[in-house]
Amino acid sequence: MSSQIKYILDEEKIPKYWYNIEADLKKNTPPPIDPATGAPMDPAKLEAIFSPGAIALEVSRERYIEIPEPVREIMRQWRPSPLYRARRLEKALKTPARIYYKYEGVSPSGSHKTNSALAQAFENKRCGTKKITTETGAGQWGSALAQACEIFGLECKVYMVRCSYDQKPYRKAMMELFGATTIPSPSPYTDAGRAVLARDPECRGSLGIAISEAVEDALKNPDTKYCLGSVLNHVLLHQTVIGQEAILQMEMAGDYPDIVIGACGGGSNFAGISFPFIGEMLRGGRKVDILGIEPAACPSLTRGKYTYDFGDVAKMTPMMKMYTLGSSFIPPAVHAGGLRYHGMAPQISNVMSQGLMRARTVQQLDVFRDAVIFARAEGITPAPESSHAISGAMDEARKCAETGESKAILFNLSGHGHLDMSAYLEYFAGKLKNYEYPEEEIAMALAGLPVCEAK
Ligand SMILES: *Cc1c(COP(=O)(O)O)cnc(C)c1O
Repeated sequence: MSSQIKYILDEEKIPKYWYNIEADLKKNTPPPIDPATGAPMDPAKLEAIFSPGAIALEVSRERYIEIPEPVREIMRQWRPSPLYRARRLEKALKTPARIYYKYEGVSPSGSHKTNSALAQAFENKRCGTKKITTETGAGQWGSALAQACEIFGLECKVYMVRCSYDQKPYRKAMMELFGATTIPSPSPYTDAGRAVLARDPECRGSLGIAISEAVEDALKNPDTKYCLGSVLNHVLLHQTVIGQEAILQMEMAGDYPDIVIGACGGGSNFAGISFPFIGEMLRGGRKVDILGIEPAACPSLTRGKYTYDFGDVAKMTPMMKMYTLGSSFIPPAVHAGGLRYHGMAPQISNVMSQGLMRARTVQQLDVFRDAVIFARAEGITPAPESSHAISGAMDEARKCAETGESKAILFNLSGHGHLDMSAYLEYFAGKLKNYEYPEEEIAMALAGLPVCEAK
């Protein structure tokens, strides 16, 4: 195993290549479908919104794809990110489990999102793009892309989900610090935004709506392209630096995980930590229990349907085969804004459908209870999204405490929560609540699913 790992890291222990799971999967991920024709999307058609570099990665079947040197040069500022053994947390839980976490909060924007933002901004600079539009939920992706655009000299416009725009003013400030423009979504500036506001002037927004607005903006302006912070193959690929480093760092620790855990929004940080381990398994390596954690308020992997659906509300994106709650589903305003997406990445959905991973949900109050225990033990303030992975890992460690089993548990701590302190204040004031699974709303959104099923 070590010979496979070492050649993909450079002398500074930063991955030289992204890892593409398509090279190892027995059944490849179904392609996106063009709603106009019902046939697989012609990749050339995607050039209206994405850079050619991103599209090439999107359809690639190569196992290792070289990371452009200008991107690696900037990543050297904080990569490799640290892998910690959570010894004080183990003590607090009185568990025989060995708990490890990979910490992505050390990036300039404070989350794993910068890994993909840099690569996407670089490819756009390379093909002559002047402006970038994007959506952001909680603001982590928006601030990561704003900084990446600043580095490569691109203008950046961010449509931010309204409920997060109100909850998290400091993320907005950070995007503006890096020179980006921030617009609360739904906005009156796009057809998609106006259509939503006409139905519901008080709409709190969703990632699906913000994506429609950002894509529409890019389609209407020839010097503008669109970037997505999760879900797509190329974004998941960019995040595989996390798992590759983790394999080497676990090796340095003289251990190997029995369980690998990540929080699932659109799926990018989870893919980042888990795909390199799944790749090892698919090539005959050790079996690892791969566990995705999602909020009970937005349970796409555990309660959604595996079918073709749109990535946005206005149905402007190609249809993707994924576990989905329906593109019109607007999840409750939980504090983990980055986990409020109606669908799951097609590659993760494919991995899930092949039985290579499992998933479960956690409730908001349990997430915050465990985030506080973690912070008091380890001294790191976790983002609410990342705290889903923490809570999932702690539950596994608690099980070990009951059974006496000593498993090695690895989870991805996708970001810090320094700009989420209002959520912690609300939790301490007893103002947060659990959200019941909104069965009726999901049934309504699922009833609106497109009827196309590709071969
Ligand atoms: C965006 C975000 C997530 C969720 O997005 P994924 O694409 O599922 O990783 C999780 N954690 C943090 C800190 C985020 O910023």
